[in-house]
Amino acid sequence: MLKGKTALVTGSTSGIGLGIARALADAGADIVLSGLASDEEAKALKQGLADEFGVRVGFSGANLTDPDAIEGMMGYVARDFGGADILINNAGVQHVSPIENFPVARWDLIIALNLSAAFHTTRLAITGMKEKGWGRIINTASAHALVASPYKSAYVAAKHGIAGLTKTVALEGAEHGVLCNAICPGYVYTPLVEGQVADTAKARGISEEEVKRDVLLAAQPTKDFVTVEQIGDFAVFLCSPAGASMNGAILAMDGGWTSQ
Ligand code: NAD
Repeated sequence: MLKGKTALVTGSTSGIGLGIARALADAGADIVLSGLASDEEAKALKQGLADEFGVRVGFSGANLTDPDAIEGMMGYVARDFGGADILINNAGVQHVSPIENFPVARWDLIIALNLSAAFHTTRLAITGMKEKGWGRIINTASAHALVASPYKSAYVAAKHGIAGLTKTVALEGAEHGVLCNAICPGYVYTPLVEGQVADTAKARGISEEEVKRDVLLAAQPTKDFVTVEQIGDFAVFLCSPAGASMNGAILAMDGGWTSQ
């Protein structure tokens, strides 16, 4: 379905980004991976995806907190792949601290990576999309684009910012065939979370099931993690003809968390 399209997925060396990259590759898109990885890791990821799905795969190790590095990455995608038809702004990090102690450098990093990077990739990709009359921009936001939690000031501010950016880009691109939406996952079952479950179970002397249900998923009514495969399939849907009327939507995928 996406044969002939190129998807740039930021932060796709692991977790949600890799899940989205795999789903788009499975749908036939060529993929440009991005993230912080060693040369060996990047080579293995590229080769693995190309072998499994028979698509062309590139990689950028750009540090996305640096606008010049983002310009370099977008130049590479334009030169080697003819530009991104699908742009997934996914790279992000978290820091948890009361605001009075929140390290200023952490605030700056989270705003740069979780919010400003999406501004830079979008401003540099959208002209090519408009010229082709087709483009899909999907921002990985979070349930924290819709509601807050204490001690996550930078993350919640950046994710609410991403929601605003999504709506603005949706309005600017609509007449040119360029659509922009945000997916807002609740807790996602990544290897990172898997490790946390085992550690917490040990520390509290409770079962892994109790950790999942009563600690991590306390706010998620289904008491079930969102999976990277579900998010990947949702991204493919947004790029498909069936998704062509979705634009500027801030799409909760959180088991009911933000319905409370
Ligand atoms: P992850 O840690 O598995 O992946 C993060 C990716 O970002 C990696 O590829 C990493 O290399 C890359 N990255 C980190 N710093 C970078 C930098 N400075 N420059 C370039 N790349 C950088 O995380 P994840 O859980 O898959 O999260 C991905 C996105 O999903 C984030 O935006 C996060 O806020 C969002 N999200 C995650 C969850 C969850 O429960 N895991 C829930 C909601 C939203």
